[in-house]
Amino acid sequence: MNTFRTTIICLFLCVFNSYAQSIQDIIDKVNIDTLALTIQEFSGEIPTVVDGNTVTILNREQANNDLAADYLVQKLEALDNITINDQQFDSNGRNIIATQLGKTNPNDIYIICAHYDTVADYCADDNATGTAAVLEAARLLSTQCLDNTIVYALWDEEEIGLNGSFFYATEAANNGDNILGVLNLDMMGYDGDAPGSQEIMNLI
Ligand SMILES: [Zn+2]
Repeated sequence: MNTFRTTIICLFLCVFNSYAQSIQDIIDKVNIDTLALTIQEFSGEIPTVVDGNTVTILNREQANNDLAADYLVQKLEALDNITINDQQFDSNGRNIIATQLGKTNPNDIYIICAHYDTVADYCADDNATGTAAVLEAARLLSTQCLDNTIVYALWDEEEIGLNGSFFYATEAANNGDNILGVLNLDMMGYDGDAPGSQEIMNLI
């Protein structure tokens, strides 16, 4: 969990590099319990509630992850200043895209993203961890008035060929989107025994 906290701090330093006075306030609001709860719910360790029903998200494989996608929509819909695009890009593929428009430079875009699909049951590390971090970043940053647009993107079908992010990137290129930076979070919770396996990689 320390890896989570450090990485999210890095995210905020990137996004808030011109608002030094508010960085610490936001960092202090990163909630380890919230991150842990999201991972537990999203990897089927504990039940959760989606659309009013108590459910267990045991599996997020591509043909079996609509419940997971609905969970993400529900989490993001609870936030202010966010517009959600439930982006269906093929028969099983759903990217969940939440956009927070920048107040000064709405056409300047930063993306914080993770894939949410899996190769098997549970898959807490790959990639409930990255998904939880994106949700936590959205929870905290959506309360802020930001100069630039932030896109919180949760990709589907990463495990079978990067399909979701490829679809988004292709559309963005065709639209001429001015994407200034992307932070992609994958397998942040790996707990290996090898020396150095807990180090933070340079995300920028
Ligand atoms: Zn992954």
